[in-house]
Amino acid sequence: MDTASLSGKELAAAINADTKERAAALTAAGAAPVLALVVANDDPASAWYVGSLRKAAERLGIACERIDLGADASVEAIRAELTTRSADLVTDAIMLQTPLPAGVHLDDVSTAIAAAKDVDGVSPLSLGLLASGLDGFVPATSEAVVELLKHHGIALEGRHVAVVGRSNIVGKPLAQLLLAENATVTVAHSRTADLAAVTAAADIVVAAAGRIGLVTGKHVREGAVVIDVGTNEDADGRIVGDVDAESVRGRAAGLSPVPGGVGPVTTALLMRHVVAAAEKSRA
Ligand code: NAD
Repeated sequence: MDTASLSGKELAAAINADTKERAAALTAAGAAPVLALVVANDDPASAWYVGSLRKAAERLGIACERIDLGADASVEAIRAELTTRSADLVTDAIMLQTPLPAGVHLDDVSTAIAAAKDVDGVSPLSLGLLASGLDGFVPATSEAVVELLKHHGIALEGRHVAVVGRSNIVGKPLAQLLLAENATVTVAHSRTADLAAVTAAADIVVAAAGRIGLVTGKHVREGAVVIDVGTNEDADGRIVGDVDAESVRGRAAGLSPVPGGVGPVTTALLMRHVVAAAEKSRA
């Protein structure tokens, strides 16, 4: 079987074109939308990600401010910054970068981000709104998986989707979004007894575990669709996914590439959220 490459580049470009127009309209009406990137680490991967978000924002006409709190920032200092940015009239959107300083848990600080500015949907309030089917910002990576499937014409209603990974920022919110699309969802994780049996029963497999080569041909039934969320650095410093593409190709009907699949759509959706937050606050 030919395995289609489910690229995210075309979809990301379409989302970005719309975001750029909306950002230009906001700028023309007063001021460019403002995204605050709050950093409390000295992690090189995080620095790289922040840099790439800044470039993406600036290309679209979104102003980006990086606030460095240092790798040993306290819970109180991080909460204070998030509270200030949540209340000020200039900041439209807030993203708190991970990792956080040792001993600081995301839930200790994310509750200080106002839901209206929580563009990556990380706070318990945003996650609760999603679980309740109410309006709020959805974690962009999870949304990107659903948007990528729709873009490639892959139906979700009534289909069985296996999500591998149950983190609060990818696996769990993705399961909620898929339920809202009327899919039947199984969530597998590190304690799942027989991963291959779970995933091989699914029409669509989403790998979001952060483990290189976890999902192989034996995990995928003939004709299934596979979405690879994994973004891992291999021994040679290359970015690779969670799916062993070689053994899955020829078996699956479609596979999203890494890089160039979920990643660009995630960034595009984040920027769309920033513009949406700005439009709402200025309406
Ligand atoms: P995480 O470490 O918080 O969670 C990993 C999940 O995978 C856990 O729920 C764990 O139970 C499960 N898991 C781990 N090993 C497993 C195994 N052997 N079998 C089954 N399940 C297993 O990671 P995360 O933040 O959810 O990220 C997951 C991956 O997605 C990472 O590679 C990350 O870099 C990537 N990611 C990509 C984007 C993007 O835009 N493309 C965004 C966010 C995260």
